[in-house]
Amino acid sequence: MNETIIPVYGSSYMYAGKCSVGLYLDKTTKTAILMDSGPDERTAEEIDHALSQEGFSIRAIIHTHTHNSSRGGDAYYALRYPEIRIYATPSSLGRGHGFEHGLRNVTITELGENLRQELLDVLRLLNERDEEVQIAGVNFRILPLPGHDPGMVGIMTPDQVLYCGDALFGERILRKQTILLYTHFGAARRSFRKLAAMRPKAYVLYHGGIYRDLSQLINQHLERFNRLVLQTEQQLAEQSVTVEQLVHKLMQNHALEDGIEQYWLVTEIVHACINELLELDRVTVSIHQGTLRIGLREHLTDRSG
Ligand SMILES: [Zn+2]
Repeated sequence: MNETIIPVYGSSYMYAGKCSVGLYLDKTTKTAILMDSGPDERTAEEIDHALSQEGFSIRAIIHTHTHNSSRGGDAYYALRYPEIRIYATPSSLGRGHGFEHGLRNVTITELGENLRQELLDVLRLLNERDEEVQIAGVNFRILPLPGHDPGMVGIMTPDQVLYCGDALFGERILRKQTILLYTHFGAARRSFRKLAAMRPKAYVLYHGGIYRDLSQLINQHLERFNRLVLQTEQQLAEQSVTVEQLVHKLMQNHALEDGIEQYWLVTEIVHACINELLELDRVTVSIHQGTLRIGLREHLTDRSG
């Protein structure tokens, strides 16, 4: 087998690049099914070349979610393999990074105008529930794992290898990035519990590769959530603030360079933080002259008392 194709277990493999694109290789029919499609066209070409060398042709792509880095190869594969089918959940579609996709809700009807016809023709929707689906003759189990993205799912192969997408990040990302993209901490915690309770042969993290046990990683993620919520609460202790102020402070604290993608990422995280504090009943929000302000609930109670 080509050295860029790493065996995980049985017929389940992964690509050796920066992003661990999942590969399910049926050696009798010589068909390949991809779990996510890589960050860009160049990677897609490399994967395609490696698989072609071994006599495989790609029949389907199953998306854990459709952030830019997970679906960068879709257009390449759709043109290269006209018979291919690309599976994704409705909630994750169109949620790319940046203003164009990330900051507005894209409905499926709108997608028709934005996505190229080639992609629409091959697109198939996945249900957002725990169920088995047959794709290109292979039975996969689809497991909702929201938290990083509302429509995220994990994909379990018949070998019991669980491809987790970005439900959890590997050690390299934890070392490199001080801030992690999660859109709902509560949903993420529930997904972590679900992941920990599964007993697959191996977990494959899209940004992290193969893991047999996730408990340490999960703890590190939970610590980061707690720290971030605590820091936000401390900032609110001085006075009520706007979302923009929270975004500004977080970008400064984590020394993030100015850029649309970073801004979008931090805005999503700030919304997740505010949501968490609202669910804990620690803050209240109010709109004043068109500006949303977030304040600690105890301050309001002090004043009224
Ligand atoms: Zn992602």
